[in-house]
Amino acid sequence: MSLLLALLACWFAGTPGWAARVEHVEVKRDRIVVRFDEIVADASAFVLAGPNRIALDVGGARPGGRTETGGAVSAVHQASRGAQGMRLMFDLSRPTVVTQGRFGDGGRELTLELRSVDDDRFAQAAAVRQRTSFLPSLGLGGKGVRKARYEVSMPIPRASRKLALPRVYGDDDSRPLVVIDAGHGGVDPGAISPTDNRREKDVTLRIAKSIRDELLRSGRVRVALTREDDRFLVLRERYGIARKLKASLFISIHCDSVGSGTATGASVYTLSEVASDKESARLAARENKADIISGVDLGGTTTDISSILIDLTQRETMNSSASFARLLGREARPLMPLKPNFHRMASLMVLKAPDMPSILFETGYISNPQDVAFIDSSEGRGRIAESVRRAVDIHFARRLAAN
Ligand code: ZN
Repeated sequence: MSLLLALLACWFAGTPGWAARVEHVEVKRDRIVVRFDEIVADASAFVLAGPNRIALDVGGARPGGRTETGGAVSAVHQASRGAQGMRLMFDLSRPTVVTQGRFGDGGRELTLELRSVDDDRFAQAAAVRQRTSFLPSLGLGGKGVRKARYEVSMPIPRASRKLALPRVYGDDDSRPLVVIDAGHGGVDPGAISPTDNRREKDVTLRIAKSIRDELLRSGRVRVALTREDDRFLVLRERYGIARKLKASLFISIHCDSVGSGTATGASVYTLSEVASDKESARLAARENKADIISGVDLGGTTTDISSILIDLTQRETMNSSASFARLLGREARPLMPLKPNFHRMASLMVLKAPDMPSILFETGYISNPQDVAFIDSSEGRGRIAESVRRAVDIHFARRLAAN
């Protein structure tokens, strides 16, 4: 996410120094509309607690115009920020966050959609202080004429929505169900390849579909995907879908990333309260952040990883997860590059289902050009899928034998 914002910010590096003036600020029930007399450069919003406020920074703009209050907004303040533009501050009479923003009227009008939240949620959004950014897009319509061609906004999906259950592939209900979870999606691109901007969310979806096809060919299991297109799911929804479908195994597909491009190989993670090493702790922190988009915790619970407590009933599930992880390592080793210490442990939110063996498969490094070329090729996907299929076959054959 931060990478995406950075890219958008780069886009505006070297923005010419123009200054639009605020014409009018209007607050309707669940919406703030700010009108400028000219196109502005960009805008970003964040919330502040104690007292509760929404701050809106606008580049290429200066204070002016009249303001009106209404809804949750009890007062509006405007201040210049010099070369950086201006800040509008909205005092709130009840905790409210910005869920969406869009520019209209050729970049001269910004509309923010508001939503009331409970105190906890507001406090969390304020604590992380991440910004939601909005850009009017510039198309040079002629000599020095700035004309907006289209608008870019970053909508934040609703946190509480009804779980739509995905399609289950395979007709024989007596077969165990394996749920494959393509990591990230929608507003959350996951890690991005520094060399060719390939996004983790796209790579994981292609891999998940290959695994589905390979498992279906074997005919021994039924398969469902948590997502089959580019959509955002919070971490709890991912295993929530699998639990609702009464899945017997949950496999979350990801790509690893580090700053330098030399780290290589696949690894598998299972749940534990304590990370097996520093690298695993860092990975868990990164993957658990998927719920926090633009400073709003969409998971509805704290994503503080130290709070992922494991209860005793989970021990058996954890053992089963660990044995599947070892099996996957054994089957994958001849087929694809693995890290020497393949099986690791970390407190990963997506593996938190208490009653369903779950693993997170980091198929390779998206930050490493060779790794990503492999895992995002049809040959690489085929090898990953074959590794999973072999491990799945043995896993369920063993369980059958044990019963
Ligand atoms: Zn990931």
